[in-house]
Formats: sequence, C-alpha cells, structure tokens
Amino acid sequence: MVDNHYEILGIEDDATQDEVKKAYRKLAKELHPDINKADATQAAEKFKIVKDSYEILSNPLKREKYDLQLMRSGGSPPVQETPTVQQAVYNGPPIAPQRGSDVKIDTKITFGNSYTGIKKEITIQLPIKCGYCAGSGAAQGSPISQCPTCRGSGALLAPVQTPQGYVNQRVVCTTCNGRGILMQKFCPTCSGVGLINGQETVSISLPSGVEDGAVIKINEKGGYGLGAGPRGDLLLTVEVEDDPNMRREENDLFIEEIITLPKAVFGGKHRVMTLEGRRTLRIPPNTKSRTEFFIEGEGFPDPISGDHGDLYVVVYIDPPEKINDGVKKLLKKLAVELGENLDDLGL
Ligand SMILES: [Zn+2]
Ligand SMILES: [Zn+2]
Repeated sequence: MVDNHYEILGIEDDATQDEVKKAYRKLAKELHPDINKADATQAAEKFKIVKDSYEILSNPLKREKYDLQLMRSGGSPPVQETPTVQQAVYNGPPIAPQRGSDVKIDTKITFGNSYTGIKKEITIQLPIKCGYCAGSGAAQGSPISQCPTCRGSGALLAPVQTPQGYVNQRVVCTTCNGRGILMQKFCPTCSGVGLINGQETVSISLPSGVEDGAVIKINEKGGYGLGAGPRGDLLLTVEVEDDPNMRREENDLFIEEIITLPKAVFGGKHRVMTLEGRRTLRIPPNTKSRTEFFIEGEGFPDPISGDHGDLYVVVYIDPPEKINDGVKKLLKKLAVELGENLDDLGL
C-alpha cells in the first residue's frame, strides 16, 4: 500500500499548491523541536514523514506520478490473492495515454479590476513534455518494443471479487506501467516519464464583475498528458484585494464617504469618485451619519448576465483631521452654544 501523502498533510486530494504549502507550514510549526521538548525524537520522526510528503506534493511532476501510483494502488487488489483465476490479456483500446493533471493557481487582482475585468499574462509551473525524448520517455537511440505482458494494450484483465463471485476487471499492466511499450534505456532527463517540470505563460481574461473566490476554468491549459493523452485544465482562483473605502455585497457596491459637520447640517453638493467616475450627491440639510444614498444600476455587473447591481454611498460625519487654533476656537464656541459643559471637555 502506498503512503497517503494527502492524509499525512491533512488535506484533500484536490488541494491547491497554496493549500499544500499552508498545511506543511502549520505542521512544521507544530512539530518544531522547541515546542516538543518532551518528545523531541518522536516529533522529529513525524516531521521527516511530513517533509517527505510535502516534497512530493509541492512538486507538480512528482505529485502527478504519485497520484497515478495512488490511483493504481487503490484501484485494484493484488492479483496473487486470487490464485484460482488466471490473468488474461486485455484486448481493448490502449489505456497508456493519460490526461494531464489540472493545474490550480491563485491570481490576485485589485478591487477596481474586479469591476472592470482584466486581461493579464501569468506564468504557471506545470508538467510539460520532455524535450529530450519528445515525450516518449526513452533514451535517444534506445530501442522501443511492445510490452510482451499486455501485448501493447497497457492493461490486463485481473479477477476481482464481487458479491457475484470473481469478475475480470481491467487493471494497469505493471510490466510497462500502462504504456504498452518497453524501452531498454529510459530518457535521462525525465527518467522515462516523458514529462518534466516546466513553466508556461498564459494570457487570461477575467470578466468584469468577477467575484472574490471565483474559479475560472481554462480548458486544456493545465499539465501535459502522458503519451497522446490530452492536457489537463487550468483552474484559476481569483482573489480580489480589499479596498479601504469600498465593499461589495452580492452585486451591490458600497462606498463610504466622510462629510464635514457643516455639510451635514446645512446640506449641499458632495462629489464622490465611484468606479464609473465622478458623481455629485445632493446632501439634504440635517443629514445623519450612516445615511445611505442610492444610485441605481452603478453596482457591479453580474459576471454571467451582465445586469448591474446598485450603488450605495454611505456618509459618515467625522471630526476634521486637521484642527488649527481658529477651528478650535469655533468648536469651543459651538460647544457653548450647544450647552456642553466646558469642564467635561477639559476646556
Ligand atoms: Zn525525456
Ligand atoms: Zn504491458
């Protein structure tokens, strides 16, 4: 049985590279010798196991190889446990080509760009075809022959016990690891896998109104497949940066604005920069803090329907940031007029 590196790190088998990293850092902290003085040896042993798992799962190519191994180890029982039935050659279509792995990455955009949408180029790490052997996995000049065990199909029929008795099921040929071919010498660059770690730059286009946490799937821009297998997909998780004065709720946009006390009392015009440009609000006299002003249809566009949400400008009445002697004098006078006890204010 293969060690389950996902269980060791305590993550799901579709965890992103970031999640793998986070889980590893958390465990590394927990297993630090300074924290585990009483049981330092045990913690060190555990840490070694965690580190091995991390080294495999944080490397896209190693992870892909391991995933295949895990799939195979869990997929079918060992053949020798069923000695009463003989293995037979599977005569269906070859199973050697395997779809490439899905590549998951996070991409950060500004709050403003989540409104307008954005085109950008990103560089991703992914398994690519080995240039040395052109993906065949064989060393140059090394003869390639059909696998005699599975006769080139990459699979065998092995008996599997079911409630109805033994049933033949297709399993991966272990002689050739499902490739259907044998090579005398593996490619030294990719060790016979046909894939190596590489990077590619991809142009992506995020729609206007894209939400924080949205996952954008770009077909066949993920890891290259084994043999003639198609590429996996690229799964982009969008992370929208926070804005100090704006927030999004569903497709509605909220902008926080500070107005002065005189403007709140007398009312008047107030200019606001929205994501559509400059707008002028008419503040009525005696406006209270947290009053919301509604502008229809100037919220976020829905990334699918394109319908816009609404805009709410929330005004706050805050003390002036710069107070000079003149302002102080006037405020003191105001305090008296409003019946404040100057002793209470320390004036
Ligand atoms: Zn190679
Ligand atoms: Zn074979």
